[in-house]
Formats: sequence, structure tokens, C-alpha cells
Amino acid sequence: MRVVSIPMRTRFRGITVREAVLVEGPAGWGEWSPFLEYPADVAEPWLRCAEEAASGRWPAPVRDVVPVNVTVPAVDAERAFRITRAGGCRTAKVKVAEPGQTLAEAEERLAAVRDALGPDGRIRVDANGGWSVDEAVHAIGRLDRTASGLEYVEQPTASVEDLALVRRRVDVPIAADESIRRAEDPYRVRDLEAADIAVLKVQPLGGVRACLEIAERIGLPVVVSSALETSVGIAAGVALAAALPELPYACGLATVQLLTADVVDDSLLPVDGALPVRRPVVDPVALDRVAAAPDRVAHWEARLAEVRALRKDLGS
Ligand SMILES: [Mg+2]
Repeated sequence: MRVVSIPMRTRFRGITVREAVLVEGPAGWGEWSPFLEYPADVAEPWLRCAEEAASGRWPAPVRDVVPVNVTVPAVDAERAFRITRAGGCRTAKVKVAEPGQTLAEAEERLAAVRDALGPDGRIRVDANGGWSVDEAVHAIGRLDRTASGLEYVEQPTASVEDLALVRRRVDVPIAADESIRRAEDPYRVRDLEAADIAVLKVQPLGGVRACLEIAERIGLPVVVSSALETSVGIAAGVALAAALPELPYACGLATVQLLTADVVDDSLLPVDGALPVRRPVVDPVALDRVAAAPDRVAHWEARLAEVRALRKDLGS
């Protein structure tokens, strides 16, 4: 087990340094990187994902590349244009509903992204649950016109009940992201008919095979997204996206470039808007370069012990 600590290029999700535990098994390396505030019961499925990767139980791929989107943060129009162009993807995900910003600012950003992508590019927006139901209905109408058509809106409101209300009042498809954090959540989204698309992340949901089963059972198209992992963790997301019978949307797996360093030589970065389906090889020198300080290693060892103690309590 190795603990790594990698500074982010820009603050994301309130994080400036990403910490991860890498575990090696017979099939290679797995990544365990639950966010620091998560208690043991939430962090437990994340560990299952790492163990699955290390033990090599991934399903066979049915495609050899996975289309991905470029992510455009809540920046001004000029930067949004440059980020979209530099991303080299045919799909852009644009952050909207940023606290302290107006809808007009989001509209300017969207117009710039449309300009950069051209008429054939796809644009989705992500509100991270930042709107009320009425705000969402109003904003989605305006942003859909500005973008000359939105592919979908991710998490317009915080609660799953409100997602369902918004979905009944707009024509743009709704994707559930934050509403899906635990294994039982996707079924709730389905039962409330709260979304048209499910965003699945392999670590919080317990691994590639667990997600594949969820995808089969919920009967909704799936977008695979990252939890800001190194290339080792991204490879698990790629394995899921590669194994899904249908993949109608670009995935949110092009996030390694948000980190200032990686633990492999051959990082999972997009080429022509897609990630190759392969497992990158961990580089021992790169691992040493981003090794966490002893106090952080001790912190993660204690966290791991907590998760194992919890499993023992549960008798699993
Ligand atoms: Mg999201």
C-alpha cells in the first residue's frame, strides 16, 4: 500500500491537494481515494473498487475507446473558449449556477463554448444542485436557447424529489449526479422518475461490476464520471465505460489533467476526444515523487483500519 499526495492545478470541489491510497494485487494496482470528510461506512465501497482492480475481476470490454467531455469551470467567456478549444473534445460540460454569479454570466460562458465547439459539438451543463425548482425551470429554458440546444442538465436541484419536479416541466433531459452516491440511490432515482440519465462513479458505488449491475437494473443510459482519481483510479472508470452494452454519451473521465502529477508513465489523457481502453503501468519513480508525508500515511492507515473494523462488525 502506498499513499500519494498530489496538488491540483486549480481548486476543484474545494480541494487543492488530492490524496489517494494505491494498493497492489495479483492483477495490478487499485486506487482507494474517498474524500477526507467521508466516514468509514461511506468509504467502504470505495475500498471494494480498489480491491476489485487489484484482484482483476473486471468485465471484458466491448469497445476500445471511450469518448470523454472537456469540463469548463465557472470561468469568464474568454477562458471558457480557450479551455474548450484546448480540450480537443466534441462534448463540453459547462459549470453553471455558480454561487455569486448571474445567469447572464453563465449565458456568456455557454455562448463562448458553442463558438469554440462549432454547431456539431454537444454541450451539457452541470448545476451541482444549485437551483430551486423554479430557478431551474427558468434557467434551463434560457441556457438551452443560448447553447442552441443542451444535451442534458446535470443535477439542477439538490434533492431527488426536486429533480423529478423539474424533469416534468422542461424538455431538456435531466441527469442525476449528486443524487447517486450510495448503491441504493440509483433505484430511488429510477423509481421517482427523477432523471433521464444516471451519472455513475465506480468508487462510491463499489466497483466496476457493481456499477455494471446497477446500469443493467435501472434501465437508464449511464455516463461514467471520475472522482478526481489518478490514472490508476480512472482506469476503473474506463473499464466500466468500456464494458457497458450502450454508451450514448461522452464520459466525465478526462480529469487526470486537473492534477499536477500522476503515478504512471502513460497517463489516461484524451486523444481526439476519447480515452484508450487500457490499464496504465504504475511507475515506481513517479510513486516516490508524490509520496505522502509520514503523518498523512498514518492518517490513511488509521482510516483503512476503521473500514476493516466496520466490515468485521458487519460480519463481511
Ligand atoms: Mg456533476
